[in-house]
Amino acid sequence: MAGRTGSRDEVIIVGGGIVGCSIAWHLSCRGRRSRILERSEPGGLATHAAAGILGPMNETDSPGPFLDLMRKSLSLYPAFVEALAEETGLSPDFSASGILAVAPRPEDRAALLARFAWQQALDPSLVFCEAAEARSLEPALTGEFDSAIYYPDEGHVYAPRLIKALLGSLSRRRIPLEQGITVSRIVPSGQGTLLVHDREGGCREAEKVVLAAGALLSDIEIPGTRIPVSPVSGQILAVRSPGSFYRRVVFYPPHGYFVPKLDGTVVIGATEETIGTRTRVTPAGLMEFLAPLSSLAPGLLELPLHHTWSGLRPKSPDALPILGPHPECPGLFIAGGHYRNGILLAPVTGEILADWIEEGASPLSRPFLPDRFLKTGDR
Ligand SMILES: Cc1cc2nc3c(=O)[nH]c(=O)nc-3n(C[C@H](O)[C@H](O)[C@H](O)COP(=O)(O)OP(=O)(O)OC[C@H]3O[C@@H](n4cnc5c(N)ncnc54)[C@H](O)[C@@H]3O)c2cc1C
Repeated sequence: MAGRTGSRDEVIIVGGGIVGCSIAWHLSCRGRRSRILERSEPGGLATHAAAGILGPMNETDSPGPFLDLMRKSLSLYPAFVEALAEETGLSPDFSASGILAVAPRPEDRAALLARFAWQQALDPSLVFCEAAEARSLEPALTGEFDSAIYYPDEGHVYAPRLIKALLGSLSRRRIPLEQGITVSRIVPSGQGTLLVHDREGGCREAEKVVLAAGALLSDIEIPGTRIPVSPVSGQILAVRSPGSFYRRVVFYPPHGYFVPKLDGTVVIGATEETIGTRTRVTPAGLMEFLAPLSSLAPGLLELPLHHTWSGLRPKSPDALPILGPHPECPGLFIAGGHYRNGILLAPVTGEILADWIEEGASPLSRPFLPDRFLKTGDR
């Protein structure tokens, strides 16, 4: 029988990754206290692995609510990181240095032009560049390629430093984060609250519970169907550059990118593998995104290898985030499935969940509600 702690929290957040921490932070900004329960290292599954790209336009093939959500979150970034840096003295190394999306071959040009046409209608600041112009924007592009789209307002952040700053802020605000607690089950108490059971034999009570457990979200037992989020593993690496010679994030097909960080490293990634919760780095995985660089930016392949790692992206069945209340369990909220864009989406997710908890609604989250997966008929 699980032991009750005796206390009752206003809000319990399960998972101390970027999503859970951002929600706790936004709640705290509105004077609401929460408690974060974390099984291990905060953000250890995905947040610490992320390249930190803040690039909405490359992440969808059409306009619509998902692109709007990402662009909204990008617009929140400057104030978000400034508030964190001011409060903690820790800089998340945010940079709006611009992003280039490259068409390597002449036959890739038509698709890039089609993308440019609908995207420029949304944002007139985008530029279609011939190779020479793109090269002048990013000197690493010494190889052969056809053309590129330049997104001047997009950029990147250093995800491990962002979560460090968030954790620092939460600690200053005395928002408790308990580590070593693996939540296993959420059960209505029958008195309008929720019971949060953990594998260590504990049980806590809260008025509201937010599940932000990343790629392990579906392990948690809840009333009705489990939340259908699955892990997508990503391998990634960093090289050391001799100075701040490289300037802009570059995307190249099929899934490659490089990200010159403010600390002089260049992050290069990433694979997408469906191999359960395994994380490992393999030469074949690294080759996938390193090989195209030999014709595009060969100089990067000569730089000293700094670090390789891998992480687990949390993916929902439609690859869109799941944000909002559980349709049949009052007080239970989901914030998951952020897949490739959880760092980008962290500020807007914090706002949306704080809106739900404070005001009982968030129009922004309508296309991303959990009820698309958690209807009674699905049981
Ligand atoms: C290689 C790679 C590159 C990426 N690049 C980018 C990028 O450039 N830009 C971008 O925006 N996004 C990127 N992402 C995606 C981004 O990292 C994720 O979408 C985001 O970190 C998800 O955040 P989260 O808080 O939901 O998950 P996590 O960071 O995984 O945090 C979830 C937390 O919940 C805890 N937890 C899990 N289960 C339980 C439980 N039962 N009880 C208690 N605690 C629990 C975990 O220990 C973890 O700390 C990348 C991801 C990978 C793997």
